[in-house]
Amino acid sequence: MDLPDIKGRYGAFGGRYVPETLVPALDRLQAGIERYLHDADFQAEFINELRTWVGRPTALSHAPTLSKRWGADVYLKREDLAHTGAHKINNAVGQTLLAKRLGAKRIIAETGAGQHGVASAAAAARLGMPCVVYMGAVDVERQAPNVDRMKLLGATVVPVTGGDKTLRAAIDEALRDWVSDPDGTYYSLGSAVGPHPYPYLVRELQSVIGREAREQLLASSGRLPDVVVACVGGGSNAIGLFHAFLSDLAVKLLGVEAGGRGAGLGDNAASLTFGTPGVLQGSYTLILQDTFGQVRETHSVSAGLDYSGVGPEHAYLMKTGRVAYESATDSETLDALAECAKYEGILPAIESAHAFFGARRFARKNPGAQILIGCSGRGDKDMPILQHTLLREMR
Ligand SMILES: *Cc1c(COP(=O)(O)O)cnc(C)c1O
Repeated sequence: MDLPDIKGRYGAFGGRYVPETLVPALDRLQAGIERYLHDADFQAEFINELRTWVGRPTALSHAPTLSKRWGADVYLKREDLAHTGAHKINNAVGQTLLAKRLGAKRIIAETGAGQHGVASAAAAARLGMPCVVYMGAVDVERQAPNVDRMKLLGATVVPVTGGDKTLRAAIDEALRDWVSDPDGTYYSLGSAVGPHPYPYLVRELQSVIGREAREQLLASSGRLPDVVVACVGGGSNAIGLFHAFLSDLAVKLLGVEAGGRGAGLGDNAASLTFGTPGVLQGSYTLILQDTFGQVRETHSVSAGLDYSGVGPEHAYLMKTGRVAYESATDSETLDALAECAKYEGILPAIESAHAFFGARRFARKNPGAQILIGCSGRGDKDMPILQHTLLREMR
């Protein structure tokens, strides 16, 4: 299974649906990936940064109390322990190193909740590059602490007032900036989405998660898991965790999307569960659109999953049946978050808590299963939302 193909396709999905002005920049990126990504010098530098600055390998933790409560054997891959608090830093460091190889003078990035913006700002500071982060004006308001973190890390945050004023508009604006200076500027995209070669590049940089987890699990339990569970927004932490297990056909793979308030269009961000095929931001994938093909706004309690599309490789993996996808609602997710915090001493990100709920549901149907959960990030950033939800119920 060697995908994408030469046209950047995962079966019918993926590809590169972009204005002509963007083609030279994408061609240049593609050539840079072919030249550097798997080259020994680049890999040595990447691995060294991951080890000495990001804090890899991240721990694999057995979860004894969740195991007992669920009647399962539960392990957690702890991306919450990575520098800046989530898996996004793996991709940000890798792309910034690539930018330097390509001779770029500045990094630009988009961000929704702010996590990729913070990771990009940190990686750019570390590697001595200026960084501009595009962020929807609505998100700038909602995610003020992350805006301040980016500023302290030396980045310039540009609020985007056009379009939906959230992540989708921020990606559009970053693409526009890139087109105006494709040689001097490198666009660091935050998830396994967008036009080819981004979904491939991000997968390759994030697949360190699954390679580590597979090895760690074999070393500590002597076997492969029955199921691997991860949350899916754009799909980068999920593809990063799943990729090492794709050819282990006895291992089930389960992606969990944001079910929000329910199944209605606009009430969730579950593009695989409820979406239909279409083109979004350069990629043919499953998207949340109305019958006229208008992309619709999404809802999720977790800002990091709140996107109307999904990476094309996930659309393909769903179609082939290799990966199963489900969704968890806002309230199911918050319940799973509270359980993990109280019984394992780990406050996961709300995004990651979707995976915990999916894992618990799997455990109820499959007693005794060994379950590997991708804990994609830590929940400290979510305190303002938790104060309005879970903590209010506890008062
Ligand atoms: C951004 C984010 C996600 C969602 O992004 P993916 O590309 O789907 O992984 C999930 N978890 C955390 C902690 C995040 O910050």
